[in-house]
Amino acid sequence: MSHEPRRAGRHFLQIPGPTPVPERILAAMSRQILDHRGLEFQKLGQRVLAGIKTIFKTKGPVFIFPASGTGAWESALTNTLSPGDKVLMCETGQFAVLWAVMAKRLGLDAEVIPTDWRTAAEASVIEKRLREDKAHAIKAVCVVHNETSTGCRTRIDEVRKALDSAKHPALLMVDTISGLACADLRHDEWGIDVTISGSQKGMMLPPGLSFTAVSAKALDAAKTAKLAKSYFAWDDMTSNNATGFFPYTPATGLLYGLAEAIDMINDEGLENVFARHERLAEATRRAVTAWGFEIQCRDPKYYSPAVTTVMMPEGHNADAYRKIVLDNFNMSLGTGLNKIAGKAFRIGHLGDTNELTVLGALTGVEMGFELAGVPHKKGGVLAAMQYIAETAAKPVKAAAE
Ligand SMILES: *Cc1c(COP(=O)(O)O)cnc(C)c1O
Repeated sequence: MSHEPRRAGRHFLQIPGPTPVPERILAAMSRQILDHRGLEFQKLGQRVLAGIKTIFKTKGPVFIFPASGTGAWESALTNTLSPGDKVLMCETGQFAVLWAVMAKRLGLDAEVIPTDWRTAAEASVIEKRLREDKAHAIKAVCVVHNETSTGCRTRIDEVRKALDSAKHPALLMVDTISGLACADLRHDEWGIDVTISGSQKGMMLPPGLSFTAVSAKALDAAKTAKLAKSYFAWDDMTSNNATGFFPYTPATGLLYGLAEAIDMINDEGLENVFARHERLAEATRRAVTAWGFEIQCRDPKYYSPAVTTVMMPEGHNADAYRKIVLDNFNMSLGTGLNKIAGKAFRIGHLGDTNELTVLGALTGVEMGFELAGVPHKKGGVLAAMQYIAETAAKPVKAAAE
């Protein structure tokens, strides 16, 4: 049997999800299994079903399916659409690609707006296409809020305005699997019909839960939608959730963790959580720029607060570099996906992350360049340190002795 030698200290899991799980959540989940039809569970069910709404900024229902985020994609599409329906999608990166593949597999007519993978979904392009669609053949507009492969964040408020200006009745579906609890998301205010997320990114939980926030309009569409669904059907969830229960065995351990995660986020304050992500993302970008590397996201307007995708210089393989970082510094960086495989790597700065986590990660990144012989300028970590120190809360000066 092969045996890896022990590595001291903690592993730096700096991929853009799954993210490290805080001790408080690990402790909350470390419990004996309970009867999911009993009174004790009912209290937990009611607590998480109410609590999760605060994270989505919605008063409407949020379904919690035991599934990865991909399951929530499926629940969004199958509950609201019928075979052959046209959906307008925007290829912002690999996750948008995968969602479109799913739509086609399910028998939908997915029309995909391309991008060069260095920008977000452009509201103006969506609006133009919607205006052309005079017959309202497009039944849904599907966009990824935080494109985890490229580090580009779509402005969902602008996409909403695009639908309104075009006076188009399509449903608006938003994947915020890696955006939730990192970047502001207002399900109700932005008129989103289905918002999709998962547990293992900004929510700081292990993988295994998916979330689907739905509008009244989406629930209405569900009454006539004809795509086949069973496990992910909303009606069974709605009737059971009304009393805090689930139609089948829920992931009870993860729900204890979820209750704790919601408390932690609300204790810190959701807006403070966003501000923390924005600040750590800016520190990361300053390091990348100081090293002389290009950020995959071309337009600062669309910078992601959750992940920074870094383009490798020509002739240097990002995965060979990542291996050197892992072997030497026990840190996992995110790989480049699909057409940027080998050409880019990703630094995750989402979830339970603070100043020194990010600085520690950036230190490993910078030393990794040195060890891998990747040409770079010095001073990236220094630039990040300066920014973090400059933007630190100034302590109230201690009273003179
Ligand atoms: C992680 C991710 C997914 C896939 O979620 P799974 O939980 O792996 O199924 C989809 N979309 C985005 C934007 C993601 O970050």
